[in-house]
Order: sequence, then C-alpha cells, then structure tokens
Amino acid sequence: MNKAKEVLEKYYGYKEFRKGQEEIIDNIIEGKDLLAIMPTGGGKSICYQIPALILEGITLVISPLISLMKDQVDTIVEMGIGAAYINSSLSENELNEILNGIKDEKYKIVYIAPERLDSYEFLSIITGYNIAQIAIDEAHCVSQWGHDFRTSYRKISSFINSLLKRPIVTAFTATATEEVREDIVRLLGLRDPKVFIAGFDRENLTINILKPESKRNYVFDYVKNNADQSGIIYAATRKEVDYLYEFLQRSGFSVGKYHAGMSNEERISNQEDFIYDRTNLIIATNAFGMGIDKPNIRYVIHYNMPKNIEAYYQEIGRAGRDGEESECILLFSQIDVQTQKYLIEVGTENSERKNVAYKKLQQMIDLVHSNDCYRKYILTYFGETVEQDCGKCSNCNLEGEIIDRTLDAQKVLSCVYRMKRNFGTGMIVDVLRGSKGKKIMDLEFNKLSTYGIMKNYSKDELRDFINTLISHGYINLEEGTFPLVKLNERSISVLKGQEVVKFKQVVSTKNFDISNE
Ligand code: ADP
Ligand code: ZN
Repeated sequence: MNKAKEVLEKYYGYKEFRKGQEEIIDNIIEGKDLLAIMPTGGGKSICYQIPALILEGITLVISPLISLMKDQVDTIVEMGIGAAYINSSLSENELNEILNGIKDEKYKIVYIAPERLDSYEFLSIITGYNIAQIAIDEAHCVSQWGHDFRTSYRKISSFINSLLKRPIVTAFTATATEEVREDIVRLLGLRDPKVFIAGFDRENLTINILKPESKRNYVFDYVKNNADQSGIIYAATRKEVDYLYEFLQRSGFSVGKYHAGMSNEERISNQEDFIYDRTNLIIATNAFGMGIDKPNIRYVIHYNMPKNIEAYYQEIGRAGRDGEESECILLFSQIDVQTQKYLIEVGTENSERKNVAYKKLQQMIDLVHSNDCYRKYILTYFGETVEQDCGKCSNCNLEGEIIDRTLDAQKVLSCVYRMKRNFGTGMIVDVLRGSKGKKIMDLEFNKLSTYGIMKNYSKDELRDFINTLISHGYINLEEGTFPLVKLNERSISVLKGQEVVKFKQVVSTKNFDISNE
C-alpha cells in the first residue's frame, strides 16, 4: 500500500480517497505547486494534511476563517498529530508557547491567519525552520474578482519570497471564475501549478428549481410531508426568516431560526438544537452553516434565489453529507431578483466589487432559467466536464413539451429594436404590455407598433420569458447597476427568421397545493 493511503487509514480511518484527492496528494509529495478547486466540504483538508504528515518539515496552512481554525486543529490533535494555530484570538502567553513549540519541532501543521504573516517575532522564528509546504485555504481571497477579497492575502507572496528555501505552495478554493484562478496563480506566485478540479459532483443531491404559485404553501406541504427529516430553509432576509419561522411555528411545526439580528446566545442554542436533532428544521439566512458538518440533513430549501452560484452550491452542499439521497429545492420568483439587486445596492462594497456581484447574480439568474440539466449546468460552471444529464433534477424530470416560442421571441426582440436606446427588462415589459406610464408616454413608446402586443401576458410571465431569452443567449444583458437589454447576432437571426426559439414549457409544479392559500 502506498504511503498516502496508509496515512488515510491510520489517522483518518477512511478506506478510500475521494475523486481527485489522491492525484492532488501525489502532486504535492512530488514537490510541485498546485491549484485545487474543490467545493466546501469536498475534502480538501486531507489533501494538504496528508502531505504534511509525509513530507519532511512543517506545513503552514494559511486560512482566513479564524472561527474554524480551532475546530480544525482540535480535530487533528485528536488524531494524534502535532498541530497548533496562530491568530488574533491568542494571548501573549499562548502565542509564546506555540512559538516555542515550533522551535521544539512539536508541530507538523500550523494554521495561521494571514494578518499574522508580518509579525516580526513569528517571521524570525519560522524562517529558521524547514517549511515543507505552504497551503493557502480560500485562495480566492487574494483576488479583487473573488467574492471575499482580503488585503492580507496580498502579503503571502512576499512572505514566501522572504524564506531561504522556497516550500511547495498549494492553493485551494471553491471559486469557479477564470479571472480569479489567474489572479491566484499570479498574485500568490505559484510556479507552473497543475490545476485540479474535483469533488463538485454530489451524486446524492437532487437539484430542483421550481416556480410555485405560492412558495408558502409549497413549504408548508413539504415540511408536513417531511416532518421527521432534518432540513434547512434559507431565506434572503432576516424579515423573511422571521416571517417563515412564525408561520411554521403557528402551523404547529417544531422549528428553529438563525440570523445575524439575533443575540449570540440565541443563535448558538438554536444551532445546537438543530445539530443535536432536538429540532428538525432551521430557518436561516446565509449567516447560518459555516463550519456545520451535520451528516443527516435530508433537504435544503431556498425560499429565495441566492446571490450567486457559488453561494447556492455551498448552501445545498450542506445536505447529504452522509452520502444518503437528499433533496435541494430552490423556489424562484421574479421578486428574488429585485431583492438580490437591492442587497447589492445597499451593500458597502465599492463600485467595482458591486459590478462583480451583479455579474455573478446574472449567472445565477441564467441558471434558474436554463432548460438544461441543472447538475450538468452547475458542474460545467465550476469547470468539471460532465458527459451525461443527471436524469433526476427538475429539468431532467420536467414533463413539459418543447414548444416553439419563435413568434413571441420576435415580438420581444423587435420591440427592443424599435425602442432604439437600450433599456432594462422592466421598461421593455411595460411597452410590450401597453403600460400608460409617464415615461412611456414621454418617450412616445405608445406609438411603436410593438406597443401592447403582448398584453395577454402577466408582468412576471414576460420578465421570465425575457430572462429565458437572455440565459439562452438570444439577447444580451449588459452588466451594471441597471442592466440594459441589448440585441446581439442571434437576436438578428431570430428576427430574420433564420433561427427558431424552442423552450420547454414550464408547467406549474407538481406537488403544489392551492387549496389552503
Ligand atoms: P473542506 O473541503 O471544506 O475542507 P473537509 O476536508 O472538512 O472539507 O471534508 C469534509 C468532510 O468529508 C469531512 O467530514 C471529512 O472528514 C470528510 N472526508 C474527506 N475525505 C474523505 C474520504 N476520502 N473519505 C470519507 N470522508 C472524507
Ligand atoms: Zn439533470
């Protein structure tokens, strides 16, 4: 048996590596830099910890998540491996103890917060030792394009350069975009790294994206039918969490809630009730879940569309950690888009970062409106190659027939064409439905031949249709605070009748009950 597998069995008690882990470990042991793209919970810790145990010298793990460091170190120490962490939570004494431990070669693995890298004391000690590997967790934090930029990450490469002997540098992230990956390689100074993408496929998760007429009733029925199962319901705002919590509690279900507006004690106690199966269901904002490794979560419902695909996949990834079949259900409505835009708008990020957020939001909107296998769509987004449809997501299962929407598409596109300047989706919807709004009258859009030609559709239906056109590339959406709809080459060929537009007809969701609205 090879060394890595021996360590896996001996320390971790696992028989097999997950897909990708062994290749990553081999690559590190051979002394090569690498960039590994793995989802949260995909098992990346093992990828740098096993080489740490095999390689001569110490491994430094740079991690921004101070709150998780202690747990991780405790786990490794329990396995009988010398490990410690250095971050701002330590007292002077504790820090000295650890620095002495490094001198005495007590540790194989030391976790460190990036802010600590320029501490003179730490540097003067660590540079004297043989550092085998520097593993950089959440490596996307080095990039402005990522969703979590941290200036302290920019110090990592000069730290590495200040070392007498250059260690193996390994970077880990769950972020998909090309820009971020390029930034990681460049700004962390990785040398000719091999890029691994692994672990995104979670076969036991069924991905459903639905548009029920009443989300509330859908949730009620679902929770009723799965009362003995453990689940999370994510909502976009605290207000919505409170509302759902009240509603479900009044309906007689035992539920907990979690959001940043609650006291620390309340949050911790609700979280523990959930983890130890005292309550089956928790309603939460995205503040909930960091570091939660509860194995038996059978379902994750998104009451609102999340802000981007990374966040979505991370949140549904909390289901089915035990490998058993689990269900993920996103309940979409048009208003979710407005909510997410609002949250970006009132956020404190600078305008460049806001644009990144809008772009990522649009990718999420595109996913929701896709007619393809959702699993395949998401895995492709993260860069994994997928041959086959999953056969069990709500798109694979959709029984709706494919219908020709070319004529409707032409109405929309020619309306955009006639409006001459570029406008947002809302304005186009208003013109197509013949709205008598002031702006429409001022711009004399009521005189266009396309004015009111789609008034038989509801606002939401039309918005949905335009979003579907966007996600299939029949028309473009320019990014920005107020994204503008713009014709492209495919729009022209649809207008000229050279291309037909066919979508699967989305029928109302199956297990939906309107009786108690
Ligand atoms: P992350 O990628 O978020 O750091 P972890 O390394 O914490 O993920 O792994 C997530 C979970 O998967 C942990 O409970 C870990 O013990 C488990 N795990 C990792 N590798 C394997 C494996 N080869 N076999 C079984 N379980 C594994
Ligand atoms: Zn599918």
